[in-house]
Amino acid sequence: MPELPEVETIRRSLIPKLVGRVIEDVELIRPEILINESGKGLTGWKISGLRRRGKYLLIDASGSNTETGKSKAASDNSGADGVTVVIHLRMTGQLLLDETGEMVRDHVHIRFKMIDPDDGSIIYLLFRDVRRFGRIWFFPGGQEELQSGLAALGPEPLSDNWSIDQLSAGLARHPKSNIKNVLLNQHVVAGLGNIYVDEALFRSGISPIRSAASLNQAETTKLYDSIRTILEAAIGHRGTSFRDYVDGLNTKGHFQYELKVYSRGGLDCPVCGQTILKRRVAGRGTCSCPQCQPDPG
Ligand SMILES: [Zn+2]
Repeated sequence: MPELPEVETIRRSLIPKLVGRVIEDVELIRPEILINESGKGLTGWKISGLRRRGKYLLIDASGSNTETGKSKAASDNSGADGVTVVIHLRMTGQLLLDETGEMVRDHVHIRFKMIDPDDGSIIYLLFRDVRRFGRIWFFPGGQEELQSGLAALGPEPLSDNWSIDQLSAGLARHPKSNIKNVLLNQHVVAGLGNIYVDEALFRSGISPIRSAASLNQAETTKLYDSIRTILEAAIGHRGTSFRDYVDGLNTKGHFQYELKVYSRGGLDCPVCGQTILKRRVAGRGTCSCPQCQPDPG
């Protein structure tokens, strides 16, 4: 599943291609993927920016000022202040840019046709999803918090506003839960999934089965630093590509070559040489080093 670094990489790959274009048409091959909460038409809006929140990608669009006549925003949506498209890729969702209109891929469920109002060039943004858990919502501009999952998200771990105290407070709300489970909880901190939780816990020397309440201040600080370091490094490597993940330009990331424990069950720990343990924690396949991350008692 794409986590924070993958969604951030997709965002960065799409910004130069999409901003300034007008949504000219939307082909709904599987209409149930798109949930229109805006009551507005989908077409005619000019893309003004792409944002990320947790694992959600947000596309902001506003009234087009094109004079080509190809946009109908000005008449259809007069008085409106734009739309925000919210995308969650879930397990296997992908956003792929098709710059020729000739890309042939199976499992494409929605196809956005985007026109450059200056030169008339057309590109397509494809939403592809083998398992079809991904969703796209469509809200009046800036009203994305109508999406309940998005509204309930905890702090952004790479923002300047996220503090060690906030992490401590998040842990304190779930004292008996194991730390793996608490870090996967999007209310405590947004954007982490199985890969980066395992890697952050390894870097911190904390067993995934320890209770949240058992971490002392030094361990909480180490965990906070590790989460930020791992996420920054993963963005620097353009995300982790196992099965499905590619960015908007169909390019794989390469953080999979940097992983220390995730997906390495049965292999040697790169720090101490012990065999990495794989087991089920918080309902997820979880990898840790029994020596670097000793289990309690
Ligand atoms: Zn080790």
